[in-house]
Amino acid sequence: MREENTTGLWQAVLGEIELSVSRGSFVTWFKNTSLLRYKDGVLVVGVGTVFVKNQLERKFNQLIIDTLAKNGIVPEKVEYKIHAANSKLHKKSNDEPIMVSPKAVTKSQPAASSQVRHSYRQGLNERYTFENFIVGSGNELAYAACQAIAAEPGKKYNPLFLYGGVGIGKTHLIQAVGNAVLAKDPNAHVVYISSEQFVQEFLDAIRYKKNTDFAGYYRSADVLIVDDMQFIAGKEKTQEEFFHTFNALHQANKQIIISSDKPPKDIPTLEERLRSRFNWGMSIDMQIPDFETRCAIVQTKATTHGITLEPSVVDYLANHVQTNIRELEGALNQLLAFCEMRGLQPDLPIATGLLGAAKSRPKHVNPKHIVERTAKHFRVSLDDLLGPKRDKDIVVPRQVAMYMLRSELHLSFPKIARELGRKDHTTAIHSVEKIEKEAALDADIRSAISEIKERLYA
Ligand code: ADP
Ligand code: MG
Repeated sequence: MREENTTGLWQAVLGEIELSVSRGSFVTWFKNTSLLRYKDGVLVVGVGTVFVKNQLERKFNQLIIDTLAKNGIVPEKVEYKIHAANSKLHKKSNDEPIMVSPKAVTKSQPAASSQVRHSYRQGLNERYTFENFIVGSGNELAYAACQAIAAEPGKKYNPLFLYGGVGIGKTHLIQAVGNAVLAKDPNAHVVYISSEQFVQEFLDAIRYKKNTDFAGYYRSADVLIVDDMQFIAGKEKTQEEFFHTFNALHQANKQIIISSDKPPKDIPTLEERLRSRFNWGMSIDMQIPDFETRCAIVQTKATTHGITLEPSVVDYLANHVQTNIRELEGALNQLLAFCEMRGLQPDLPIATGLLGAAKSRPKHVNPKHIVERTAKHFRVSLDDLLGPKRDKDIVVPRQVAMYMLRSELHLSFPKIARELGRKDHTTAIHSVEKIEKEAALDADIRSAISEIKERLYA
């Protein structure tokens, strides 16, 4: 297998891993990795730093092996190698330009470190641009508003509130604004953060009385982008902090962009005064793009892999996944990886065989299913699982249930806590992290998780 042939496979693997670890973990440990080679049963993953190498070896090795296996690759050995092209400063693929232009670097600082710090703090992913966003019915209004904002931040549509279902391009668009603003003015202070992170940083700032200037940092933004606002629901203190940040920025004519999975009026326990602030600007309802647009997305993404797909395959994919562009990308990557590994040209029979029946997950797994399935698997009663008992044989199933709610449904931590009858969401954070760690080390936990999943989607 030559190196070019491995990109599709590795992207498919990363795509799946992205869904099973936290956003932070993914960005920190996986984002800048690549598949260097796969030869004589040894698969070599390129990583940027020794820290990443250690972490992947210790914590994520099994997850990587499992995910490779799911994509049909079972190496005898997986190795991690530090590789210059994987450090943040060297981008290997041409379609991923380094976001921060050298102009952003002040003369007195060494170029390398300031570039890293600069792009890290903003939380932006240079992959998300207007250029690679396909416009069509469902997202055209949002696209136009975002472009207008990028041209003149703070002038129109302030705040912009984008809402809509999972995987339809909200994050892509709002990050594209940030990237476009920076491309024009590398010194602009663009801050991108998920509201979940905002909550966490705020709590940390209070709890540990950290010496970081939390309020000052956010209030000095030229463009503040807050993703997944729904996670701030019910967090009174953080909402208050956000309210003040909002006012300070708005008064100074700084741009605020917010995304959420639902409109402000449907976010329970969103403080009234915040809700009314959000109504000052513009709210746009984003929908899943229509069939033609989904076809264009599939085609464009295949082209970036250097592959032209037959129309029947494009149609099949666009029909196969109708609700979520992230899943659409996943299906495409899976197909391309499968064909690359075997030297086949993707066609309709392969696509249907690979993505047909077995792969179509019912969309209707809900939190209740997961909790019940988990209880059943461990043979504990639902009452015990949701109750106060702290025996180990109940605590572990409870933690697994929380983990599954996170990995399968991407629920927020407060919501996870509520589903299991807990008041304190830090328990949920702790549980999910614990099971993540254990799953990497403990085969029993891993097989429990995969069995529960299998039943869940059977
Ligand atoms: P959301 O934030 O709404 O959950 P994302 O912005 O993360 O969704 O989009 C999911 C994936 O689909 C991303 O990889 C994104 O690049 C891709 N995507 C979504 N819409 C489009 C589009 N119109 N054109 C190209 N890619 C898209
Ligand atoms: Mg998103």
